[in-house]
Amino acid sequence: MDAEIIAVGSELLTPFHQDTNSLYLTDKLNELGIEVRFKTIVGDDSVRLASVLRQALDRSQLVILTGGLGPTEDDVTRAAVAEALDLPLVEVPEIRQRIQARFASLGRPMSENNARQAFVPQGAEWLENRNGTAPGIWLEHDQTLLILLPGPPRELMPMFESQCLPRLEQRSSGERIRTRVLKVAGLPESEVDRRLAPIYTKYQNPTTTILATPGGIEVHFRARAKTAEEAKALADMLADQAETELGERVFSTHGETLEEVVGMYLVMKQKTLATAESCTGGLLSERLTRVPGSSNFYLGGVVCYTNELKTRLVGVPTAMLEAHGAVSRPVAQALAEGIRRRVGASLGVGITGIAGPSGGSEKKPVGLVFIALADERGTEIREFHFPGDRQRIRWLASQSALEMLRRRARGGPRR
Ligand code: AMP
Ligand code: MG
Repeated sequence: MDAEIIAVGSELLTPFHQDTNSLYLTDKLNELGIEVRFKTIVGDDSVRLASVLRQALDRSQLVILTGGLGPTEDDVTRAAVAEALDLPLVEVPEIRQRIQARFASLGRPMSENNARQAFVPQGAEWLENRNGTAPGIWLEHDQTLLILLPGPPRELMPMFESQCLPRLEQRSSGERIRTRVLKVAGLPESEVDRRLAPIYTKYQNPTTTILATPGGIEVHFRARAKTAEEAKALADMLADQAETELGERVFSTHGETLEEVVGMYLVMKQKTLATAESCTGGLLSERLTRVPGSSNFYLGGVVCYTNELKTRLVGVPTAMLEAHGAVSRPVAQALAEGIRRRVGASLGVGITGIAGPSGGSEKKPVGLVFIALADERGTEIREFHFPGDRQRIRWLASQSALEMLRRRARGGPRR
């Protein structure tokens, strides 16, 4: 079964909104062994949508439309589908009652506009929306299955998961696909490939993809098999071999982020953390506090941008700042040790560097960052030379600090 996705919404054709629904849907469909062959984004325009639809009906067995099911004049999906299939729209009293009940429970009268949402193309089934008013629509037409889903991801995802996936699973008698993702820190892409190629080239299935992402190198193993269990076992088999080869460089074996892994180790070892950041401006703190439950290990931190605040808030000696400059090994160390001591944390991190584009010099070029990590055993200070623009340098600094934390928190031999 080949699928096609049509995202409806004029906002998706502006520079301000992205079609993320199709990424989610593609992921779910792929797991069922269904390939997505085409994706189209079309504005809220029934003529253009009908034309896209006619083409989709000709070439795809499964067509999923998202968006444009709202109550307003510019929500044209329902009508355009009925028009393209030459079906009348008929009212479903039960939908109307449900929408009315939903409004009543919110203490508001139902607007007449919402009554449109009770209409579906003749012969279609409707899908309950527990998170909004727009019902979805399931429609078999000739050789094609059409599924219409509401645009908001928080409505679309649960609807698709509970009411579409199980039915699609029954139909797609073909193969199942499962993917395992390993994330690797501290090795360049080429090195990861050099070490893994002798292993993965032995297999056509799973297929292996190596990707450089801002969060590290990712290795994706995509396996196909008759059943989901067999596909998973295949993906696991190759992922395990790769993990053995890369060893401690692998920080995530099931898609966790680096900050989640750090948090997990810190909680496990009952360690607490505080940060003193200069050039990253709180980025490390932001990433740590993205992790649910971060209050169990992260005490907090300061952004000390000026020399004066480095001294006042973290206790970096003025003489040291004058002698070595703010971007220096001793200042990174003083930041890490100072914040650890002042806050009473088990671990302290200090970051100081030159994110650019200005402020660099021959001796201290843009991209130079010192990161220090202090604990009761001492302080590790590392010097980095990051490539790229301001944003990338800041991100890589936060990434390296997290990687230093991961290694320290995990324990084992230091390097
Ligand atoms: P609609 O169902 O067209 O009323 O969509 C309502 C809202 O859902 C839009 O304002 C978007 O914020 C969101 N939305 C619609 N289509 C998509 C899409 N393809 N991906 C992500 N969000 C979407
Ligand atoms: Mg819309």
